[in-house]
Amino acid sequence: MSGSPSQRARGRAGLTGGLDTPLRGYSTGKNGGVATHEVFNQAPPRVGVDEFGSNTALREGVARYDAAWAIDDLTRIGRHVGTEEFQRDAERANRIEPELRTHDRHGNRVDEIEYDDSYHRIIRAAVAEGAHTAAWADPKPGANVARAATFMLFAQVEPGHACPVSMTHAAVPVVAQNDALAAEWMPRLLSRDYSGDLGTPSKSSALFGMAMTEKQGGSDVRANTTRAVDAGDGSYLLTGHKWFCSAPMSDGFLVLAQTEGRGGAAGLGCFLVPRVLADGSRNVFRIQRLKDKLGNRANASSEIELEGTVGFLIGEEGRGVRTIIEMVAGTRLDCILGTAAGMRQATAEALWHVRHRVAFGALLVDQPAMTAVVADLALETEAATVTALRLARAHDADASDEELAFRRLATAVEKYWICKRGPGHAYEALECLGGNGYTEAFPLARRYREQPVLAVWEGSGNVIALDVLRALTREPGSAGSDNYAAFDAEVARAAGEHPVFDAHLAATRRQVADVVASDERDAAASARSLVANLALALQASLLLRTAPAAVAHAFVESRLGENRGQLYGELPRGTDAAAILERS
Ligand SMILES: Cc1cc2nc3c(=O)[nH]c(=O)nc-3n(C[C@H](O)[C@H](O)[C@H](O)COP(=O)(O)OP(=O)(O)OC[C@H]3O[C@@H](n4cnc5c(N)ncnc54)[C@H](O)[C@@H]3O)c2cc1C
Repeated sequence: MSGSPSQRARGRAGLTGGLDTPLRGYSTGKNGGVATHEVFNQAPPRVGVDEFGSNTALREGVARYDAAWAIDDLTRIGRHVGTEEFQRDAERANRIEPELRTHDRHGNRVDEIEYDDSYHRIIRAAVAEGAHTAAWADPKPGANVARAATFMLFAQVEPGHACPVSMTHAAVPVVAQNDALAAEWMPRLLSRDYSGDLGTPSKSSALFGMAMTEKQGGSDVRANTTRAVDAGDGSYLLTGHKWFCSAPMSDGFLVLAQTEGRGGAAGLGCFLVPRVLADGSRNVFRIQRLKDKLGNRANASSEIELEGTVGFLIGEEGRGVRTIIEMVAGTRLDCILGTAAGMRQATAEALWHVRHRVAFGALLVDQPAMTAVVADLALETEAATVTALRLARAHDADASDEELAFRRLATAVEKYWICKRGPGHAYEALECLGGNGYTEAFPLARRYREQPVLAVWEGSGNVIALDVLRALTREPGSAGSDNYAAFDAEVARAAGEHPVFDAHLAATRRQVADVVASDERDAAASARSLVANLALALQASLLLRTAPAAVAHAFVESRLGENRGQLYGELPRGTDAAAILERS
């Protein structure tokens, strides 16, 4: 190649006209035609990318975990979410926020949320592609993998709509526990039609939400004070409040409320609360106000009050937590999928920028300090992606007992770790764009505000870490040891692949034995460290078995090695960053 390094860099950056979108433009003066300066060295918009085809880890994972049959659909979805129109809708849905309308103009209570059309377009497309319930509609091997990839592609560009999509997916196994309710609701849940307003007689589909969290207790739902009184006609009447209730325009909700114990043991029951009753009238569902949130602004999250609200019991009185836990298991996996999708967006946008931006005479991507940062971001993304898809496969209907035990522990372990890694990853990616990254004109400011919610939802960090201890030690019968045996067997499949990995595996086994033998307080105090080590062991094992050596070894040495880094961009000497970036 001829020319100096900086000339070559400028050429590759398209500054001589080599890019699909022109980089040169003129800023005109207000009197028209008088140029104040030339615009150059800004990356072109990242639009028109096939987000599935260009995501090597996702593409390979889909094929590996038995969902190759979905590749044509995923390719179509990947192209759709990469369009300029979809990205504009994503930006708009977060800028023109949902608004609460408590009453109509005549003063009737309506409790409705108005969303911008951009939001409706996004969620309609996601539902049409089965991002909500496709895995239940056709539960063949790989069904959850295909659904996970669909969900991730949409959530990569617009995460707000993913909340009701996820809750609808996760509600299915709970509704299925009650034959009568399942007969009524399942066809609607499995429908791919998004059209129709609440209460429209022809509405054939349904989205679901869940309402557990109250003012005095969220993680500790036993503190719920909402009461459910048996109405004697097969329904219950619920009175109380919920402090967080997202997607309040959903058609049905799973709600926890305290029962009196006439039908069984007193305690929490799980209720299906429809927004519209069988006679077409509105159920009492008072939306008090919408939360003013850090991020996730396309999605409405509300405070609600219930007063004599009709609900239908699922499962038994007093066993509400056990009933709804099936839903929580699904949404926890979706928190992992959503975070991994967000990491992909962050890495892709960062890489795009540094591959087009020149500073100090060379493309940023070619400058070693930056190469290390983006390669490290890519490693994190690939680890999260392969883990998410491996877990999705474990959620398929054909899961063996061992697979069920693996998924019980591994979903909690990785929910903790991957969701905790999300915000830092988004922050570092944002910084790759320099000042642009900090502005709302680029998507990473939005992503940075989005990532923390996935760690709060469905079990905040400590709650999940304690759940891991429960999964290891306090489940009925031999479940605790079975869960760990299945997890350890999966991780150990990479034993012998790398000495640093082997040392980590041995140390983690010792730590598990130590924590399991500790008293409850000591175990809780070391829960986070244990979960982090378990999570890294699984991620490293998966990469050692599925990724090229350059990726797997860099991950192992930078996350498990003695000289592991504190921040992104501290990769060990000799890391083949070019090979890592090649996959991104
Ligand atoms: C945007 C958004 C939307 C939401 N949507 C919904 C929804 O649709 N439906 C719904 O039901 N909820 C929803 N939530 C609520 C969310 O699930 C809860 O906020 C979450 O479960 C935590 O509960 P909490 O806020 O009561 O905090 P707390 O339970 O009080 O926890 C506070 C902190 O203490 C920690 N902690 C709790 N117990 C322990 C312990 N034993 N040891 C050590 N640390 C502990 C937690 O990890 C957390 O960090 C939403 C929240 C947000 C932010």
